[in-house]
Amino acid sequence: MVGWIIPPPKISVKSQEEFSRERQAKVKDLQARGLLRSPRLKAAMLKVPREEFIPPFYRDYAYLEVPLPLPGEATISCPHSYPLFYEALELDARHRFLEVGSGSGYGAALAWEVVGPEGLVVSMEIDPETFAFARENLQRLGYDQVVIVQGDGSQGYPPLAPYDRICFTAAAPEIPPPLLGQLAAAGRLIGPVGQPNQVQELVMMVNEGAGQWRRVVVEQVAYIPLRGKHGYPA
Ligand code: SAH
Repeated sequence: MVGWIIPPPKISVKSQEEFSRERQAKVKDLQARGLLRSPRLKAAMLKVPREEFIPPFYRDYAYLEVPLPLPGEATISCPHSYPLFYEALELDARHRFLEVGSGSGYGAALAWEVVGPEGLVVSMEIDPETFAFARENLQRLGYDQVVIVQGDGSQGYPPLAPYDRICFTAAAPEIPPPLLGQLAAAGRLIGPVGQPNQVQELVMMVNEGAGQWRRVVVEQVAYIPLRGKHGYPA
């Protein structure tokens, strides 16, 4: 069993200035650790107020390297996990991006800042309560162009396929085949593969064309289970 220690809920007392300072310090730290390299992602992480995606009683922990509970069966992943996924994907301007597991909506907001107005962000969430939370956060912060869909993302979202980049942010028994099928030529997909409650491999698949795939293990991670047709039973 692998777990994270979640800090206790408490009333938020930090000011916007404090959050802003913590955000800048986090970005510096991620850069110093070599985890954050892309200028677009750096700008996105400086811009998107992560604390606004976190329920009030956990908000003061927004920039700690811990996952925090969200409404429903979800957690927001720790701050460094977004550069971990998005740098490996080489997420960039104009990409069509599909995220499976919206959680708080924070990852979708970051991705939107990276792909820009000529790109596309589709984010899927299976849990109705978590979906409502993510949608409200994205709307309140002005990310109304993110396409947020309630449903089983293990089957992808065919109406807007193909995608240049896909990520799933919950642990799957194997890479869901429909996601590979919805990946564009030269596309990249990333997500945790392995048993829930154990260490999983963060696997990236690169579509090299003509049915050829390159499989890269990027890191060891610990995510909650993917549900749905190509996930684990609830
Ligand atoms: N991307 C967020 C959330 C991670 S938690 C972050 O990194 O912070 C994983 C999320 O995936 C949860 O919100 C969970 O409800 C959702 N999820 C699990 N299975 C799913 C599925 N089949 N389709 C869509 N979302 C799913």
